[in-house]
Amino acid sequence: MPINKASLIVFESFVKQRGRRKLRVIFLGPPGSGKGTQASRLSERFGIPQISTGDILRNAIVNKIGLGIKAKEYMDKGELVPDDVIIGIVGDRVNQQDCENGFILDGFPRTVVQAESFDKMTEEMSIPVDVVLSLNVNEEMVVKRLCGRMVCKDCSTNYHIDFNLPKKKGICDQCSGKLYHRPDDEEDVVRNRLRVYKETTEPLIDYYQQKGLLRAIDGEEKIENIFKQLVSVLEVM
Ligand code: ADP
Ligand code: ADP
Ligand code: ZN
Repeated sequence: MPINKASLIVFESFVKQRGRRKLRVIFLGPPGSGKGTQASRLSERFGIPQISTGDILRNAIVNKIGLGIKAKEYMDKGELVPDDVIIGIVGDRVNQQDCENGFILDGFPRTVVQAESFDKMTEEMSIPVDVVLSLNVNEEMVVKRLCGRMVCKDCSTNYHIDFNLPKKKGICDQCSGKLYHRPDDEEDVVRNRLRVYKETTEPLIDYYQQKGLLRAIDGEEKIENIFKQLVSVLEVM
């Protein structure tokens, strides 16, 4: 049966409305679970910014901003940067114009204090979070992923020496920037980050489950399969 014009118009306006729909997402998961990889792809797919607190801190270190100098000593050891510093950064960032249609938080919140103050903030600003995506990956796989992770020094795209190779060795596919191995991706620091994750961040899974916002996803699948699953979750939001 041919599609009539009226139903086509209804469909087009539905697509347009969906295009305008605001989408606010939080990524949870241990270090190395694939938050950055997926957040960056989803950011492109849905046209909303990825907010990575880790990237913001690393940029502050490179640019020798006061914040970076303060944060570096914690990051080098695999400890968390103090809550007040992080909450300030995120509060400023979600207020920027490019977050008007939503955002994807990657690496925040990481403590119950951060989650509670973000709840307050989103309530005051009337910007409710739609969903919390939780990536599940076992500990040994996460260690393998982090120990082989390479990051673009210019655009922060993540690669892996075995699982996610760039087309040209040592060079970013996106911007031709040089790839480097993060100093906190050395195994001893990785183990400490995982300990911190378990003690301080993992309780947020329950926190968001109780709020009815949590969607758990198997993070051990291939990058492309996980992406497809995430897109199908977000498309019906
Ligand atoms: P990962 O890729 O392991 O998830 P990130 O790049 O998100 O790591 O974070 C690197 C480091 O930056 C953390 O180990 C921590 O020191 C600091 N950091 C990033 N986000 C936060 C946060 N929300 N709270 C406290 N510290 C943070
Ligand atoms: P996070 O932001 O949670 O710390 P990343 O997105 O940086 O994690 O991923 C960690 C490392 O694992 C990177 O080297 C990335 O290329 C690789 N990686 C991400 N997702 C997968 C996957 N599904 N399978 C295999 N390797 C992956
Ligand atoms: Zn790059």
